[in-house]
Amino acid sequence: MLVGDKVYEGRTKILYNTADPDLYRLYFKDEATAFGKRRGAIAEKGVYNAQISTILFTLLSEAGIPNHYREKIGERVLLVKKLVMYPLIIVVRNAVAGSLAPRLGLEEGFQLLEPVVEYYYKREGADNPLLNESHLNTLGFISAGRLQTCSILALQTNLLLRNYFAHRGLLLVDFKLEFGLADEKVFLGDEISPDTCRLWDVGTGEKLDKDRFRWDMGGVEEAYREVVERLLGQV
Ligand code: UDP
Repeated sequence: MLVGDKVYEGRTKILYNTADPDLYRLYFKDEATAFGKRRGAIAEKGVYNAQISTILFTLLSEAGIPNHYREKIGERVLLVKKLVMYPLIIVVRNAVAGSLAPRLGLEEGFQLLEPVVEYYYKREGADNPLLNESHLNTLGFISAGRLQTCSILALQTNLLLRNYFAHRGLLLVDFKLEFGLADEKVFLGDEISPDTCRLWDVGTGEKLDKDRFRWDMGGVEEAYREVVERLLGQV
């Protein structure tokens, strides 16, 4: 494989290799998908998500949460550490939204007494099923010890991000993380953005995240830009 070759293309991002065998270039696209069916583009989303991920990964690095972010090298491009990803999605929830409302029989917006951590099996071309620890032990792709490390890092990330967003007038309702291995250690990978977090305005409850696209609510670009501006302290 040549330097600069595409390693992987997903729905919203592309990975390229670099001259450094330990690093990838992560390119953020404008494309968006919802429920595996609805497809579209959100103007400038790639630029916003690269910027938001940079700010949030930098915050996590400063707090000692190991993650793949190394440097922002373009409007929509990050230099990241090469990881071998687990086929695992970890969702942390602070308030009830989406599928959790019917599952628990609670209203959307209900504040959970403590954060809920959920695991989903990431499988291309299939729905991502909800897993418990016993399913994970049976599937065998992650050890109990590494799963515990991921869960602890996810909860620490939640505390940091929830507090950071709260100071910017945003409620972190829920979000997903993906982890991988490098040098025999667990690192947080992927992105942290309004594509992967639910963010509501603390005062009005207005949704400032991908739910606007999922539910065709309009004002999608504006919502992503608003999050960038709040993180940059421009609002
Ligand atoms: N999420 C994501 N990608 C996924 C699954 C979840 O970014 O493949 C995020 C989603 O944006 C939300 C949180 O994780 O912020 C919980 O998502 P879930 O899909 O479980 O939502 P629900 O089923 O509750 O609508």
